[in-house]
This record gives sequence, structure tokens and C-alpha cells, in this order.
Amino acid sequence: MLVSTQTARARVVGIHHTMNASRPTPLAQALLVALLLWPVAIRAEGKLKVQFLDVGQGDATLITCPHGTHHLLIDSGDNKYPHSQENFQRDLKAALGGTGQKLEVAIASHPHSDHIGGMEWVLTNYHVATYIDNGQPAETATWSHINTVRMKRVKSGALNYIDGKKSNLLKFKLCSAVSFTLITPAAQAKLSDTNDRSVGVRVESLGKSFLFVGDMEKAAEDAWLNKLGPDALKLARADVLKVGHHGSDTSSTEAFIHQVQPGYAFVMCGARGVSTNVGYKHPRASTLRAYANWLDAKGDVPGEKTDDVWAYNKGTENWITVPRPKRFWLTVADGIVTLETDGQTINVTTEK
Ligand SMILES: [Zn+2]
Repeated sequence: MLVSTQTARARVVGIHHTMNASRPTPLAQALLVALLLWPVAIRAEGKLKVQFLDVGQGDATLITCPHGTHHLLIDSGDNKYPHSQENFQRDLKAALGGTGQKLEVAIASHPHSDHIGGMEWVLTNYHVATYIDNGQPAETATWSHINTVRMKRVKSGALNYIDGKKSNLLKFKLCSAVSFTLITPAAQAKLSDTNDRSVGVRVESLGKSFLFVGDMEKAAEDAWLNKLGPDALKLARADVLKVGHHGSDTSSTEAFIHQVQPGYAFVMCGARGVSTNVGYKHPRASTLRAYANWLDAKGDVPGEKTDDVWAYNKGTENWITVPRPKRFWLTVADGIVTLETDGQTINVTTEK
């Protein structure tokens, strides 16, 4: 960085000499200041990092601010799918530098085990400052253990708890460079299905936007687009989309995809014929085609893959291989998927 600064200085000094040998013009002075500050600004901001962890049939995403100092976790893998917790804990430890670290915000989109599988472990092993969920209790031991730890931490003053349903459309700051807004269609629309009651999160950083919709299905997508009002509608637009409900055909309506207008899409799902995904059959071929219809026209980006991927075809009731849409990644095929952006370009790299 120091080298860059000196290079910038030398270049500007060069401009001075051609323009005015004795005294730099106001324009050259402005350029000098801008170029001297530029490398420092880049260093201070760095890159926003989004890691889609490979937890099999389940969700777990870690967002790290451009300074590398503040972290936001959305969901925590499953506790039934093979190796989901093992991989989640290993990869979170690798990303945060072990356990016992500070984790500013942990969000549980909804209380299904493939999203809250590791939350008790997270609350027990990290200094979580704020815990957010959709305000919905569940009749499961997994949820009840999390709830016990959460209540204890809140009571002792160590943890701040936010009910996502009561905080619909509220905006929070993760750090000076990252903010996020909670969008919970169930706060304003009657939605009885737990998936539909997911807390949505829209992260903004360095001029880019990232949408995480948990397992929201068509009813929640429709409510978001038609019942939450113009502010919520604007928030449905994002550069990057974590595809809803593991690529199921119960989510990702054409209307929703066209509203979001994603430039990049990410699915977190398990393998065909493995554990809980034997019954779920995620992702669906029709969902991949819906994203291909939108994304293929947007052109190539560095790091994208062009292979065929497995998806369940409901019409013929079997697993088939389909061309992967452009700008589209799946943890089942790619392992951990890491997105980094400096606000100008978005780079995606994969573990596999
Ligand atoms: Zn799920």
C-alpha cells in the first residue's frame, strides 16, 4: 500500500510539472489529495465477505464486514443431516479463528432444525452480542435448548434479543460499513406455515445488496410483494439472492425473481438420496430453470461454472441432470461458496 501511495504521488507530481512547473493548479491539487487518500481508503474498507457454508440439507451463512472485524451469522445448519454440524462447527471456527470469539449478530430465520441445528452451540461457544429470531417457539428439544441458553444470557445482560416479527422493516448497523434490514412478511400477513414465517434479511454494504429469505415459500413471497407496502417492495430488490427454501419449487415464483432481479444466486441444499433430502428432494429442476430464465441473459461472470447439476424433476418423478444456470452456485456441488466484493466487482470462489 505504501508503494501504491508513492506511485500515486509521483504520477501526480508528474502532472504538475507538465501543467505548471512552479505551482500545481487547483485541479491537480484536488487530484493529488484524492490519489493520496485513495490507497488508504481501499485498505480501510477492504472487501465484504459472504460465506455460504456447506452444511448439507440446511442453511448457514457467515457475513464478515470489510474491516474483517464484525460478523453476522444467518442460520446454523441441521442436526440430522450427516456431517452438517461437524462441518458447520469446523468452518465457523476456521472463519472466526476458533471459539470464544465475538460474534456480533446471530439470526435464526425460523425454528426448523435445518436452520437452528447449531444455534445452541453458537450461543454457548461464542460471545454473541445480539440474537434475532422470528419470535416463534417450536415444540422441539433443539429449540427448547436454544431458548434456555438465550433466556439465561439475556437475563445476565450478556445478550440482546430481537424478535424479528416485531422488528419488521427495521434497519440495524453491523458496523460502519454494513447495515441490515429485517423483512418478515408474517408480521403483516396471515401466514401459518413456519417456512413462510421466516425472517428475511437484506444486507447492504459498499453499495451492494444481499437478500436472505430463509425458507419463505410462495405465500410469503406474494405477501412481501403485495401486502407489505412500497418500502418493503423496494427492499425485495438485491444484487445477490440466497434462494429460498433450498431451491424448492414451493419458492422462487417468477414474480419474486423478477422483483429481486438478482445478478447472483446461491442455493444451500443436500445431496440426492441422502438423509432428509430423500424426502425433500431439493433442489427442483423447475426452480433451476426459473433462475436460468432470468440469469442466463445476464452474461458470464468470473468464477461461474458451466457444468450440469442434479435436480429433482417433479413431472417425471426422478432425479435428472440439468444445465446449471449462469451466475448460480449450489453448496451441494461447490462445497463452501465464498463471495467477496469491494463494491465494484463481485468475485465468487468455491471449495470444490
Ligand atoms: Zn430449511
